[in-house]
Amino acid sequence: MAATNANEPSFRESVDLMFNRAAALVDLPAGMEDKIRVCNSTYTVRFGVKLRGEIRTFTGYRSVHSEHMEPVKGGIRYSLGVNQNEVEALAALMTYKCALVEVPYGGSKGGLCIDPREYEEDELERITRRFAYELAKRDLIDPAQNVPAPDMGTGEREMAWIADQYARMNTSDINAKACVTGKPPHAGGIQGRVEATGRGVQYALQEFFRHPEDVATAGLSGSLEGKRIIVQGLGNVGYHAAKFLSEEDGSKIVGIIERDGALVDEGGLNVEAISKWIRTHGGVKGYADASYVEDGPSVLEHDCDILIPAALEGVINLGNAERVTAPLIIEAANGPVTAGADEILRKRGCVIIPDMYANAGGVTVSYFEWVKNLSHIRFGRMQRRQEESRHQLIVDELERLSKDTGTGWTLSPGFKDRYLRGAGELELVRSGLDDTMRGAYQAMRDVWRSRDDVTDLRTAAYIVAIERVVSSYKAKGL
Ligand code: NAD
Repeated sequence: MAATNANEPSFRESVDLMFNRAAALVDLPAGMEDKIRVCNSTYTVRFGVKLRGEIRTFTGYRSVHSEHMEPVKGGIRYSLGVNQNEVEALAALMTYKCALVEVPYGGSKGGLCIDPREYEEDELERITRRFAYELAKRDLIDPAQNVPAPDMGTGEREMAWIADQYARMNTSDINAKACVTGKPPHAGGIQGRVEATGRGVQYALQEFFRHPEDVATAGLSGSLEGKRIIVQGLGNVGYHAAKFLSEEDGSKIVGIIERDGALVDEGGLNVEAISKWIRTHGGVKGYADASYVEDGPSVLEHDCDILIPAALEGVINLGNAERVTAPLIIEAANGPVTAGADEILRKRGCVIIPDMYANAGGVTVSYFEWVKNLSHIRFGRMQRRQEESRHQLIVDELERLSKDTGTGWTLSPGFKDRYLRGAGELELVRSGLDDTMRGAYQAMRDVWRSRDDVTDLRTAAYIVAIERVVSSYKAKGL
């Protein structure tokens, strides 16, 4: 979405402004600030695909922001709004995000200027394969150097095509599957990747609410139970976040904003039913069990406890920031709050859980998938039954003690089933993700709470990330 104010910096400038604010608070060797900020390279490709009797030319990008660690990592976005500025901003965010959640990657991002809804599946496959070919032949897709993932407009299907295209071009590469993440489980993917970013948003909020002091800073109290949430974008990230928060944490989704308007209901919206409606009707309009608001973005300004922008960048900007009243914003999308809006919201006391942390669940589980591909074995395969038999020993012993001592103790209903079940891949992935989200929040929070010159989570997140990138450069002798 275009910024509505002429004074609004571009997405790229916005990310740099936020970086600069944090970098000024870190003691950096001369020249290091510039070295970290700049985007190392951006490759632009234009390629033709014969479709519907004519040759159509497409423009795509792959930016590498930082190679302080390799491979570099970042999604591929399909959208008509894709441009070099946007891809570079997103690649920079990937560098800081990976450092913050301690996944050993540099930052990258890709994009193709296309509206995927205008094409049939077989057409999209041909376009995707050709784009993948152009990137792979320049090592911009490679298990050791550059590993894409899904982003807006792409998903498992596109990642499977990319993996297959790379494998066709590198027939003897035993690690070919690790060239891209977010693949379907039957094509080298991992359980829990599709839900990962939304799940990460849930874990991030759960961790936030474990710190009453932080909750109070946002002017809130208590837990996630009953909190009124507005979500923008019911795609992969927004849908999973809204689903888990409403089904598992007792929060209430009171607004859903989509491209063609918004739905509101103070009693709580049915996320599952609305998602189904969007998939069959292409938007929210016409859904009967809620009030429809034609001016979707205006719902960002409605009263709520938590606002989750999960669609695209720049939606909270100089044009509307004064009217956005949510006390807590969690940036599920990348860059939804511009640098100017961030300043207005901060001054008003709004707490913003920043994108580089909030949506890091995707890259975290992508990392697990990449490790799985390189180790060629599913997580838990070696340990699961062994773990179960050790638990069985304890249960048997407890039951024997109860019987032999005549105490009549019995285990609670359901305990045996839950305790005996060894962890499968999905449980392990969720556990690793939860641990990552908790650890990263605490690292960010330590800086936020311990330094007088750091008054917000975003600056704290940048400081943690910058210090880690610097350590990595120093270790390389730079
Ligand atoms: P998606 O394409 O699955 O969903 C995007 C949703 O936003 C769609 O439902 C779309 O209709 C809606 N939308 C588009 N334009 C809109 C507008 N102007 N107003 C309201 N709604 C609009 O994309 P996604 O993968 O869920 O990504 C969403 C955001 O999360 C992006 O900023 C992306 O970079 C970020 N992100 C995604 C992942 C991931 O794993 N998919 C990981 C990290 C960050």
